Amino acid sequence: MLIVKKFGGTSVANKERIYNVCRRCIEDYKKGNSIVVVLSAMGKMTDVLIEQAKDINPNPSRREMDMLLTTGEQTSVALAAMAFDALGVPAVSLNAFQVAMHTTSTYSNARLKRIDTERITHELDQKKIVIVTGFQGINKYGDYTTLGRGGSDTTAVALAAALKADACEIYTDVDGVYTADPRVVKNARKLDEITYDEMLDLATLGAGVLHNRSVELAKKYGVQLVVRSSLTNEEGTVVKEEVKVERMLISGVASDKNCAKISVIGLSDKPGAAFRLFDALAQANINVDMILQSVGRDGEQDIAFTVVGDYADDAMKVIEDSKKRIGYEKLSLETGVAKVSVVGAGMMSNPGVAAKMFECLYNSNINIKMISTSEIRVTVLIDEKEVDKAMNAAHEIFGLDEA
Ligand code: ADP
Ligand code: ASP
Ligand code: MG
Repeated sequence: MLIVKKFGGTSVANKERIYNVCRRCIEDYKKGNSIVVVLSAMGKMTDVLIEQAKDINPNPSRREMDMLLTTGEQTSVALAAMAFDALGVPAVSLNAFQVAMHTTSTYSNARLKRIDTERITHELDQKKIVIVTGFQGINKYGDYTTLGRGGSDTTAVALAAALKADACEIYTDVDGVYTADPRVVKNARKLDEITYDEMLDLATLGAGVLHNRSVELAKKYGVQLVVRSSLTNEEGTVVKEEVKVERMLISGVASDKNCAKISVIGLSDKPGAAFRLFDALAQANINVDMILQSVGRDGEQDIAFTVVGDYADDAMKVIEDSKKRIGYEKLSLETGVAKVSVVGAGMMSNPGVAAKMFECLYNSNINIKMISTSEIRVTVLIDEKEVDKAMNAAHEIFGLDEA
């Protein structure tokens, strides 16, 4: 069997943890399996590097950020290779250049396009454990790119797909996917299985346990994922196409504090206003999330929308720079907001989920700033300070606490 195993930051935070990772890999290696290990940077290394960058220059270029952040993963793979060596097992560490992991050119949020498998296959044929840097890639300019925070999961799934691996195991600091972040909702329950679609929504809406693109790729290439703990032998959660268990109305609750709300006041109430606004943002590669358009009055209208928090300043600048073309009166930015979402395929056939969500927020005296829904989710934008309260309230009202 060829197994891809990914270990996150906490799982490689220090010497003992790195040895623990090696031992877990060696167990499967000794059974005759080929092992590819994907590692994140140690502990909070990526955060530390970001702090260092901001200290030197509050507005570092995205290219140089990627140059800096990729060192985190390079450190952990090299140290792991040394640990394998000390344990007497042949291993080699490889970075994105050595493997040739091609991505789009967008620094800090690149997408994997193609992975060359030749080098890895060659090393596996030599009976080595191959340790690959997560989170990084290379672009057409011959530069490092990174895949966005949490992107090592995506490296692992993409490698599993490219190598046609028999299994892809994501080892982390929780023993699986829960109905909500167990750090926020004490009564959260571990799920034995979850569908790709539900997991994709949860991940996209802030459940940081898996990088959303890893789930997208897993679904596309049929990679069956297991999320499990690196510190215990618990079974974990299987992410796959169909699940056996009877579908609950809601499979989980997620929150995302990395967002900001931008309001554009006094746009003309004529065809083209929304196009010009969102086209300017699209040209600058800025994704827009929830959108709210006001009812027109006196030939004017307002549009408010959310963007990922890290892109708020960029978005503001783009809209200011295009003020003439877009045509508006006032622009404002609101930070300190967060999204809370409930997700579940069972929603499709059950009206009233949104109403129930609003009811529970009302009961908790939480004000809703924006709403968006799809067939299988309801999302609200609220004050960041109310997130934990809202998560717990939603978790309870949808009956996720018991069962
Ligand atoms: P790693 O460094 O291993 O990639 P992450 O911090 O990225 O770990 O992801 C694991 C964390 O995700 C958990 O510690 C947990 O707090 C958080 N999390 C958020 N939502 C969920 C969820 N629905 N189920 C499990 N964990 C979740
Ligand atoms: N080290 C990167 C991060 O902290 C990537 C990852 O851990 O998946 O975001
Ligand atoms: Mg992660």
